[in-house]
Amino acid sequence: AAAIAAVTGYSPSPSPMNFKDTPTGELFNANVFSKAVMKQRLPKPVFATLSRTIDAGEKLDCSTADAVASAMKDWAIEKGATHYAHVFYPLTGFTAEKHDSFLSPDGEGGALAEFSGKQLIQGEPDGSSFPTGGIRVTFEARGYTIWDVTSPAYIMENPNGTTLCIPTAFVSWTGEALDKKTPVLRSMQALNIQAQRILKLFGHTDGAMVSSTAGPEQEYFLVDRNFYFARPDLLNAGRTLMGAPPPKGQEFDDHYFGAIPDRVLAFMLESERELFKLGIPVKTRHNEVAPGQFEIAPMFEFANIATDHQQLLMTTLKRTAEKYGMACLMHEKPFAGVNGSGKHVNWSMGSATQGNLMDPGDTPHENAQFLLFCAAVIRGVHKFQGLLRAVVASASNDHRLGANEAPPAIISIFLGDQLTDVFEQIKGGGANSSIPKGTLTVGVDVLPPLPKDAGDRNRTSPFAFTGNRFEFRAVGSNQSIAGPLVAMNTIVADSLDYCATRLEEATGGDPSKLHGELQKLLTEIINEHGAVVFNGDGYSDAWHEEAEKRGLLNLKTTTDALPVLQSEEVKELFGKYAVLSERELSSRLDTYLEQYCNSISVEVKLTLEMARTMIFPAAIRYQNELASTCANLKMLGYEFDTDTLDTMTSLVKALQDSIAELEATLEEPETDDLLAEASNYCHVVLPAMGKVRSIADKLEAVVADDLWPLPTYQEMLFIK
Ligand code: ADP
Ligand code: MG
Repeated sequence: AAAIAAVTGYSPSPSPMNFKDTPTGELFNANVFSKAVMKQRLPKPVFATLSRTIDAGEKLDCSTADAVASAMKDWAIEKGATHYAHVFYPLTGFTAEKHDSFLSPDGEGGALAEFSGKQLIQGEPDGSSFPTGGIRVTFEARGYTIWDVTSPAYIMENPNGTTLCIPTAFVSWTGEALDKKTPVLRSMQALNIQAQRILKLFGHTDGAMVSSTAGPEQEYFLVDRNFYFARPDLLNAGRTLMGAPPPKGQEFDDHYFGAIPDRVLAFMLESERELFKLGIPVKTRHNEVAPGQFEIAPMFEFANIATDHQQLLMTTLKRTAEKYGMACLMHEKPFAGVNGSGKHVNWSMGSATQGNLMDPGDTPHENAQFLLFCAAVIRGVHKFQGLLRAVVASASNDHRLGANEAPPAIISIFLGDQLTDVFEQIKGGGANSSIPKGTLTVGVDVLPPLPKDAGDRNRTSPFAFTGNRFEFRAVGSNQSIAGPLVAMNTIVADSLDYCATRLEEATGGDPSKLHGELQKLLTEIINEHGAVVFNGDGYSDAWHEEAEKRGLLNLKTTTDALPVLQSEEVKELFGKYAVLSERELSSRLDTYLEQYCNSISVEVKLTLEMARTMIFPAAIRYQNELASTCANLKMLGYEFDTDTLDTMTSLVKALQDSIAELEATLEEPETDDLLAEASNYCHVVLPAMGKVRSIADKLEAVVADDLWPLPTYQEMLFIK
């Protein structure tokens, strides 16, 4: 109740952004050491050398680095920066920074503002507390951060000090990737190399770099900070571990695309302004399905930059929410029984000269090329469905995937009726199809128009073609998009490699044979891998049965999915394209298993603590009230219906039993086998935790409101 008073008493200080007072040109990229700034501040030859490094991946020499560092430092100091930080992306999925001052003693009692090329290019954070899955312990505890020239440096403004931030890769001294960024860059290179071979077959030999592009849609919840602080579970685990669903749930659906509350709008405006300044092109915002849930989506960018920007976006949303007295929840399932949060990662690939390669195009030749790229994705997703499930596996995302929620844990592709029909026509129909053979001739016929309309999309599919890109919807709201992008880039590189090899051999370099051979190849791919295409309802039980018949994997939990990372196919895939070595891969498996265990371990401790110190005391107080009322009334000769007291008494007993049971599950002997430990958490501990919760939730419905120690769903979800 005190919390409610705090909420209603809150009035945000409005600081609206408008494009009249601050032209978009001044706002966008204002805090970024962008190409425009570089061009203006760097000597011409330095800028030319740096541009070649950024665009074509040429090696950066030391004198260039010194010149860039000096210009960067001057620019940053003008913007108020006192420190610089190498920003890196450890396997936790979060962002880490090591701050250093620009100030160096000059040896004569004074100090100089200094920043050399070497300091720009390489740093040495004491990152020994970051998970590395054993890579570093066997050698030495040092890791290096190395400037990622392709991702621009930026200024982070903070009332407590402003910092120049330099995006970096984090590697061990043996050159092994300890982070999420390095494999993204490697996978983009692999994709480029294979895509060039395909483009060459189609007569495009300009060599313009093909990059993967990504546009992540971020879902999140907002709750008032007063509630947030009153809930140890939200505060420490990011989700509610108890709480009965509100009487007014999302079945009303009036929140979706409804009016955005004022405070939330003010928060969104300020977030957008901050993001613009950082060069993050946010575009859409709206309410989501659940009450208190919202979404923000930037325009797509190159995958590596989109990944860095996604991390920055999450940080910015959380920070800005605090300013408006709210907490921004990125957890995949903060509230049971209420829609969870995902991160839809829109993915495609393209080059400066060829544009978007997932765009069907208008001519038969363009159509043919598109169909090949599309078939490559279908083949990759089918071959590596387990990998795609593994890269989105986490304790928190398990509450979405495979639980009764979008999307299912079975990876399938939604192509839409029109495109499915096109592939059916190419292969000459299925066994029971009425479509005659060769109805559509690749390179001759024009594709029918494919819909780009959101209304036509199947929202239950984990992986959907949406007109000119694919949308991977199984990614969790709290996850880095790096893993999913690495997987996408690499499996498609593998497919393009396969297709290029086949076509190069079959055509023997004769372009006139291309379309005919392509038709054969597409037929083969759709026959072998078409089982992954599914346009129906992904939630239905019928699909689960059907998917099993089709031989598709249904990896329900993280413990089922993660071991895929050590399968022979996956090791070979990442090894072949030099994206992740076997050691790098196994270090990731260990890290993610450890994270899984840790996060559930935290939840268990919280559940026990809350059950013992909050729920149980509230329950016995109420039980006692009922009991003394009963005794008093009886003494006076009145009747008292003991139904509620009986319910309370049995619930209190059940609560005590469930607490004891949960505690007992933790008495498992220590083991070195991470997978066994994870499996125990999954199949033994989690169900026991669920039992405590279900009794606590029952108690919530009975115990007097003024005795209930936690803010309720009702209070938290309807943000004003
Ligand atoms: P939805 O209807 O799925 O909610 P949104 O408009 O919210 O769609 O988000 C679509 C996302 O897809 C945006 O981030 C957009 O920039 C991105 N997108 C569009 N084209 C591409 C592309 N070629 N590659 C990657 N992402 C793209
Ligand atoms: Mg979407």
